[in-house]
Amino acid sequence: MARIFCVANQKGGVGKTTTCVNLAAALHEAGQRTLLIDLDPQGNATMGSGVEKRSLGHSVYHALVGIAAFEEVRVASPTGGFDLLPANRDLAGAEVELVELDRRETRLRDLLAPYRDDYDFILIDCPPSLSLLTLNGLCTAHGVIIPMQCEYYALEGLTDLVNSIKKVHAKLNRDLKIIGLLRVMYDPRMTLQQQVSTQLEGHFGDKVFKAIVPRNVRLAEAPSHGIPGVLFDRSAKGAQAYMAFAQEMIERVKAL
Ligand code: ADP
Ligand code: MG
Repeated sequence: MARIFCVANQKGGVGKTTTCVNLAAALHEAGQRTLLIDLDPQGNATMGSGVEKRSLGHSVYHALVGIAAFEEVRVASPTGGFDLLPANRDLAGAEVELVELDRRETRLRDLLAPYRDDYDFILIDCPPSLSLLTLNGLCTAHGVIIPMQCEYYALEGLTDLVNSIKKVHAKLNRDLKIIGLLRVMYDPRMTLQQQVSTQLEGHFGDKVFKAIVPRNVRLAEAPSHGIPGVLFDRSAKGAQAYMAFAQEMIERVKAL
């Protein structure tokens, strides 16, 4: 039975998509059956997985509103090897349409239910908001992975997300927990980042992943080639950090 993880943070540009694509590719490399779901109308996870978002027959939007079946939407990432439910701008409309539908918060959960035995890991790339799409992600997942930069205001920004997670846990999904905080775009030369990183460890303890993803230009270049960073340049520091993170996730799910 798949363990399902949402990668969420209501801020944009904090490394959610980079984390999803690289974790999916690294888990696939490690022999884990992995499905990545792009739940962001920007379709960055789709493009980063080597799938052209502009020429999709069906996207996750069609599956969520019930126009297409799961199998009609699922594709394999040609560069990463993992399975993908791709997205594009169509998904922006889903937000409005979902409101009218039955069981609107659990559309994604219902959609995935028959396929959970086909995977070891299912990862969900959430949009930078606490919208109905993110809510669908949170209602489906066992856990949330929160990527964050070690900035002064990073902790403050977490409050809304943590409150949403608490609400979903109480009302809609008793399985949901925060699996961990992942430090990304880390620059060890910056004293402030070191301090915030240490504060995070003090405050959240074991919830902070040991792997730290450094700021690394190879990770930023990879999406324009449609290749996950971990495969684009395996020797790069960023790639190695995401490989280590994948191993940590594999260990962590054993304890769940
Ligand atoms: P989000 O999905 O949260 O909006 P992204 O994963 O798209 O964030 O990352 C935002 C930008 O930062 C992208 O251009 C991405 O390539 C870049 N980026 C992400 N992680 C790193 C990193 N560790 N080092 C350098 N650039 C990064
Ligand atoms: Mg993104």
